[in-house]
Amino acid sequence: MNLSNKIQNSFKVKSHCTEIFKVHTVDSLVSKGKGGLFTSKTSIVGGGYNIIPRSFVDGLVVQSNLSTIETTEDDNNHVLVKVGSGVVWDDLVGFTVSKGYLGLENLSLIPGSVGAAPVQNIGAYGVEASTFIQTVHCYNLNTGIFSDLSKDECEFGYRTSHFKSKPELFICYVTFRLCKSNLSVKELIHSTKYSKLEFLKDTLRLIRLSFKSITLKFSPRPKIKFSFSCIRDILTLCILPAKIKRKIVSVIRTKTLHNPDKIGNCGCFFKCPILPYAEFEDLRNQFPEIEWFEHDKQSVKISACWLMKKTNWAGKKSNNVLTDTKRPVVLLNAGSATGEDVLHVMSQIQHDIKSKFNISLEAEVVIL
Ligand SMILES: Cc1cc2nc3c(=O)[nH]c(=O)nc-3n(C[C@H](O)[C@H](O)[C@H](O)COP(=O)(O)OP(=O)(O)OC[C@H]3O[C@@H](n4cnc5c(N)ncnc54)[C@H](O)[C@@H]3O)c2cc1C
Repeated sequence: MNLSNKIQNSFKVKSHCTEIFKVHTVDSLVSKGKGGLFTSKTSIVGGGYNIIPRSFVDGLVVQSNLSTIETTEDDNNHVLVKVGSGVVWDDLVGFTVSKGYLGLENLSLIPGSVGAAPVQNIGAYGVEASTFIQTVHCYNLNTGIFSDLSKDECEFGYRTSHFKSKPELFICYVTFRLCKSNLSVKELIHSTKYSKLEFLKDTLRLIRLSFKSITLKFSPRPKIKFSFSCIRDILTLCILPAKIKRKIVSVIRTKTLHNPDKIGNCGCFFKCPILPYAEFEDLRNQFPEIEWFEHDKQSVKISACWLMKKTNWAGKKSNNVLTDTKRPVVLLNAGSATGEDVLHVMSQIQHDIKSKFNISLEAEVVIL
């Protein structure tokens, strides 16, 4: 057992594995595969921002260092960019915004690698990565076969995809189809065709939303307060340039999220459960104050934070794990938590929510 094979993770739990294999070229991956070194115990990690590894992970851990960004097609309206899975996600967003390739700007500062983005179908501020993914280029660690999966074959959903049930698929590259106009971005996000009048409508919306977001307080002294509640709507307007959207998102994220360099965390630990409308109505009859959002025409998302607050899991410390007071769905390392501690707390939370609401709370993080 080699204790130097540490698995980096943003929750800052101490963990090591049998061996770490960093993929610098696709050929090196193939050679390793031919040597029969990938087994059912092999796992894949990226930057470690969404994993909780146990203290010892028995097996080989594969990590991508494929770091190229290549523009493969460019026409008047769209551009195709093929990106190595080892590229830091935010470096890609910075690159695309600087080139005027639009679509990913609302996903600024999400920590992690490009290879993990399709797996979790990362999302923020009304945008999901899947909207702009054209092809995912994979290598099957079990069979040694390469495959290119189209967007449909990736079966993207809310923080999920085909890759969740295929842990043997190592993502080598992702091809993104990005837009050259903000109107096309908005059309893709809302799956709707807009006329040029949309710019005028969005200008009026921006004025209205800005007024809604700003409150003037005169006591004890005059103060302008900005509320983030409309920010998601503002960030999908087509009149705001991508550079400004990236700036706004970066400022908000830096101000509001826990920085893993200061306190170990994985962002949102749990997904918001999705319920069909009929089930939701029953629940709302019992708990009229329930917090929820529309998911699609048939179902709603229940706020995981609300469920945790109602089961007294806000601002609670258990087994070296803290839950955030305002956003309990963010679990924090109180100092010396182990992967096993985190799993224990996760089960307690899931148990309490199941007992009170009969709802299964699914982890967004991946347990190794
Ligand atoms: C402070 C903070 C804020 C966050 N905010 C957001 C947010 O706003 N929205 C959001 O969606 N997420 C958010 N996250 C979660 C996290 O950033 C994303 O899930 C990110 O994609 C993780 O990337 P990673 O490279 O660290 O992947 P890892 O955590 O290392 O791995 C995650 C999963 O991807 C798989 N994987 C990684 N690379 C590959 C590959 N090359 N091939 C196949 N599978 C692979 C792993 O096996 C694992 O299943 C946040 C996390 C933190 C810590």
